[in-house]
Amino acid sequence: MGLQSWIVYRTVHQSDSIHVYAGRPRKEARCPDCGQLTRCVYDRTREWKRKLHTWCNEKPVYLWVRPRRFQCSACRKVFTERFPGIRPWARRTERAEALLLQRLKAGSFRRAAQESGTSASTLRRLLFRCVGQQINLEEALRDVDAFVLSIDEHSYRGRDMMVTVTCVWPKRRLLAILPDDRMKTLERFLRQLPDTVRRRIRAVCIDLKDAWRHAVKRALPGAVIVADPFHVIQDANRRVDEARLVEQQVTGVRLRRWPLLKNEDDLTERQAAQLAAIRKHHKNVAHFHWVKEQLRDVYRASNRDEAAAILDRVIFETQSASDAALMQWGRTLRRWREAILAYHTWRVSNGYTEGVHTKIKLLKRISYGFRNREIYVRKMLLAFMPLAWLTSHPQLLT
Ligand SMILES: [Zn+2]
Repeated sequence: MGLQSWIVYRTVHQSDSIHVYAGRPRKEARCPDCGQLTRCVYDRTREWKRKLHTWCNEKPVYLWVRPRRFQCSACRKVFTERFPGIRPWARRTERAEALLLQRLKAGSFRRAAQESGTSASTLRRLLFRCVGQQINLEEALRDVDAFVLSIDEHSYRGRDMMVTVTCVWPKRRLLAILPDDRMKTLERFLRQLPDTVRRRIRAVCIDLKDAWRHAVKRALPGAVIVADPFHVIQDANRRVDEARLVEQQVTGVRLRRWPLLKNEDDLTERQAAQLAAIRKHHKNVAHFHWVKEQLRDVYRASNRDEAAAILDRVIFETQSASDAALMQWGRTLRRWREAILAYHTWRVSNGYTEGVHTKIKLLKRISYGFRNREIYVRKMLLAFMPLAWLTSHPQLLT
């Protein structure tokens, strides 16, 4: 029960709870004022104080303590002894708090409160005290010399977005959730990182958002920007599909979606025939499709030089295109050229961050939504904290 260093006087089992009367074995205490060790007991506080300590077969275990008062032999000050693992005035021991956070980590406030016999508001207060708006990055990244960030956004409520920052290499970890998706907030977050952390950021993986690229460049001039490969391909598919819809409207001919969007090597025979027909009769859509397949080759290339040759040809071809949307795509690819090719150096994506978003969605569903942004951010950070942090290093949480 985590009472190895205590003397247990008496244990009382009741039907719904267990009560342990205990105290510290040593007849000495350190003066909080001058630090002198003293053995002079002045008196005992009159009442036993009850502290929630742990659970045993779902029954709460209460620790009853009756602190002694000592008189310092140096400065004569009278002080009350402190117990290990109990903050002064707290109604729960640190062990109980870690266990409560552990319950809250996996479930909703309501469920964790029910299971532990506390109230949701107690858990909210505990969460606020123990989990900050962001985790201690220096501590989380203590053992890595260099790392890569991934930045992406997710929905807090409807179209109200929040920004997720994770480490994706060499280890994967959620680092922060920014309370909104304004560029200023992101830039401030990156600028305010401790110098020791900023210096170690080698690359940052983001979606094809120019505003983000500028913000990251300004805040972290030394970091390489990597375009998320999934997003580049997703963006390509979206553009191909738009071109398909425009062509349909102009020509009045129905064009199938899948022959264009599926990877060319995965097409069925029938789809391959449909694609061949599109190539023959709808040159513009075929051109979009060609760019998309070339981009896939950029990622399949065996090295950066090979990828650069493919990408440069695509950029060159699209520049002389007659279609305005295709030219615009080419310009986007030109602006993101370095970031797209950087994939071959760093081999990172926003895949882990997407996984974090999936888990966040699940937690939102079991919690029936969050009305308060600050609680939301803390609750989500808690969900991704390693269990060891909760039990062995409560100081890391603040
Ligand atoms: Zn003293």
